[in-house]
Amino acid sequence: MKAALIFAFAGLLGMGCATPQRAPFSTALNWVTQSREYKAVCLQTYANAWEKVVAVAQKESSPWAIVMDLDETVLDNSGYQRHLETKGEAYSQESWEEWVLKTEATLVPGAKEFISKVRALPRARIIFISNRYARNTKPTRVNLQKLGIAGDNDIYLLRKEKADTKTIRQKEVLEGTGRMVKHGAHRVLVWFGDAAHDMPDDPKLKWGTHKFMLPNPVYGNW
Ligand SMILES: [Mg+2]
Repeated sequence: MKAALIFAFAGLLGMGCATPQRAPFSTALNWVTQSREYKAVCLQTYANAWEKVVAVAQKESSPWAIVMDLDETVLDNSGYQRHLETKGEAYSQESWEEWVLKTEATLVPGAKEFISKVRALPRARIIFISNRYARNTKPTRVNLQKLGIAGDNDIYLLRKEKADTKTIRQKEVLEGTGRMVKHGAHRVLVWFGDAAHDMPDDPKLKWGTHKFMLPNPVYGNW
């Protein structure tokens, strides 16, 4: 018993054992890909959002939409991050676009179920505002189709050029201007993202009611 305790302690302190194994990937990436906690936060976020959406959508008479960011909100790009960390490379636009063209992103937990439930609501419209470049709309749509979450009615507002910020595209959705002229103005019931700029800077929009954040510890403008 005593010997067993000493052995356990030695193990904890790393004494008399082989060199501790280094995790092959960063803690942030492991948290996203391995932990039950990451999955729980995502499921919790989408479940809470669904309750809000279903309550207001039934009463909505004007055109309404759900606005979603794509990467790390709907699409899980941990495969790209694994590639970077394996190679010891930093993010680059070039390697990112190579990844986008592969159409191999997977799903953020809860996103698919949420999207399919929203689609079943009357007059539902899903608008994707992503900083993927507009030239990559086709592979992005193919990736969503492969995951079973693409809809014929969806609108993709991807980035035309660097100056085409999300704020510009959010305004187009709300006012029915620019790329949204043919679709008209939409009331946005809920905004989703993994970065602060995914939601309009409007004090009337409340967390957990009108806007929902997904966790992304791997990259961001912190
Ligand atoms: Mg994102």
